[in-house]
Amino acid sequence: MKLTSRARFSTVCLHAGQDPDPATGAIVTPIYQTSTYVQQELGRHKGYEYGRTQNPTRMALERNLAAIEGGPAGFAFASGMAAIGAIATMLRSGDHVVVSDNTYGGTFRLFDKVLTRYQLSFSYVDTSKLDEVERALTPATRMLFVETPTNPVMRLTDLRAAADLAHHHNVRLVVDNTFASPCIQRPIELGADIVTHSTTKYLNGHSDSIGGIVIAVRGDDIEWLRFVQNAEGAILSAFDSWLVLRGTKTLPLRMQQHSANGLALAEYLSAHPKVKHVYYPGLPTHPQHELAKRQMHGFGGMLAFELGSLDAARRLLNAVRLHALAESLGGVETLISHPATMTHASVPAETRARIGITDGLVRISAGIEDVEDLKEDLSQALDQV
Ligand SMILES: *Cc1c(COP(=O)(O)O)cnc(C)c1O
Repeated sequence: MKLTSRARFSTVCLHAGQDPDPATGAIVTPIYQTSTYVQQELGRHKGYEYGRTQNPTRMALERNLAAIEGGPAGFAFASGMAAIGAIATMLRSGDHVVVSDNTYGGTFRLFDKVLTRYQLSFSYVDTSKLDEVERALTPATRMLFVETPTNPVMRLTDLRAAADLAHHHNVRLVVDNTFASPCIQRPIELGADIVTHSTTKYLNGHSDSIGGIVIAVRGDDIEWLRFVQNAEGAILSAFDSWLVLRGTKTLPLRMQQHSANGLALAEYLSAHPKVKHVYYPGLPTHPQHELAKRQMHGFGGMLAFELGSLDAARRLLNAVRLHALAESLGGVETLISHPATMTHASVPAETRARIGITDGLVRISAGIEDVEDLKEDLSQALDQV
């Protein structure tokens, strides 16, 4: 199972980072459930000293995810937020960060409620408009933190142009690639310095683990992240690492079905008389459809649509049977949610209004069920609206 440098994406997902177990030949990397390692003699060991610092299952996942994103090294954390917290330790007091205004709610909470206590400052701008990003840059700006597509209104940022702008100002481009998954979008190929994921979503893909990953390109960043992962200790457990490794083996297959179902549902909803608008980058009506075709390979499983009122949204959400009413995304089961009262409830009302998160907006994370069953469920639920 030696990978050549030419190995294609699904081969990399399946095999990268994992050799047969040296002790037994087990094809699956075992769960090394151990806190410590016995040393052969004083000062001589096999490269493993303590479970927080090194764990073979976690390190296999880190190699696997780094290869999938096309970066030299990755570091796995106990959650997506722990991963973003580790990235934030690259900042020093006085530094400034420009952030997508429609960023994940937990990221906003960490930046706004925790990190502002440490003399760090953040500007939230529509990163789909790079002139707004450029205006927000100051001599203290160290990082441009971007999500694309954004949650839930699917606005895109041109990653190559954002990388060029950031580098021109000596700023790191950090991309939270959770929403797209590396199957659909690989920011490092477009110039990003750091990519992060909540592995909880598409990478694990089975709604049964919480985790995060940071993949870095620059040597000094890699050295710092390795140090901080051990120093702060918010590591991903061996068992969760094993689950995510199982997940990435089928990532390309799952994403194919997520994308096919996402597109089919977006088309179905666009044609429905009770739906006022559909947000999905794969629709020719999406204002950035050309950019989506250029920087994404497929359009993913996330979509949102406007029903016009809270009452209409409530009727639909209470009538669905196959769609599960739940937060989160990226699992094999189709989830449906109400951003204004669920995932984005902590976003101030005027910000919600500016971004387009209305009371009538509904979000779907398309799973991998037969899409005809999903359409039938939406059809009977829309009859209640
Ligand atoms: C879920 C999510 C996170 C946070 O990840 P956790 O694993 O829940 O801590 C960060 N960014 C995005 C885009 C997410 O969807």
